[in-house]
Amino acid sequence: MNKKYCTAVVLAAGQGKRMGTKVAKQYLEIDGRPLLYYTLKAFEDSDLVDQIVLVVGDDEQIAYCQEAIIDTYGLKKVGIITTGGKERYDSVYRALCAVSEKLPAQAAEGIVFIHDGARPFVTADMIERCYMAAAGYGACAAGMPVKDTIKIADENGFAQMTPPRDRVWMIQTPQTFQFALIQQAYQKMQDAREELQQKGIKITDDAMVMETFSDHKVKLVEGSYENIKITTPDDLVIAQAFLKKNE
Ligand code: C5P
Repeated sequence: MNKKYCTAVVLAAGQGKRMGTKVAKQYLEIDGRPLLYYTLKAFEDSDLVDQIVLVVGDDEQIAYCQEAIIDTYGLKKVGIITTGGKERYDSVYRALCAVSEKLPAQAAEGIVFIHDGARPFVTADMIERCYMAAAGYGACAAGMPVKDTIKIADENGFAQMTPPRDRVWMIQTPQTFQFALIQQAYQKMQDAREELQQKGIKITDDAMVMETFSDHKVKLVEGSYENIKITTPDDLVIAQAFLKKNE
């Protein structure tokens, strides 16, 4: 099988307000290294990945990442560092534009992994599973079946309905696509921004962009229960434990 060109978009332009620290969460350290280092290193070490596009908050963060992460740890695949936008989907859109404008033409014919910088426990196996599903189905999102019962609440905080637990997944990243498919869907989303706002629809992941703006189905692929997004201080404690366990 001919390997398709693979670009990994790593998102680190969020402010991480829920962490309650001055430093954005993706730069907090676990075991003496910035969280974002572990995320980038996983994609750097995957034989499938050709290029990494890193999206950060501002020019100061570009300089920091270049010096304290890319140069310090000798990462070779981060070809583009760019600044993101207000919402996660703005950051993704900018990254997709950078891929089509700045990377070789094969990138636009290949596969793109879109991954939260704040998920440092992505593994080579997970990247491979996502690649295979994206190459076969065109679109996939990593996730895991939920362990708890999930309830949909009404606007007053009362249980409204309970979806069958064996069909409910919690969704993670990487979310992985044939580049042309996700670029088209994101382009359509740009044109429909006003309508989304009027209807109060909040786009929270890339699979949702595909579901809303294309007819293409998104395959759900096994991620892992360790592939957590570091969001609140408790997650840092869990991250330390995972890191120790995997040593
Ligand atoms: O805010 P949330 O936890 O959903 O963010 C998921 C990932 O998206 C994080 O890694 C964050 O840095 C990134 N993000 C971004 N640009 C934004 C908001 C979030 O790159 N405007």
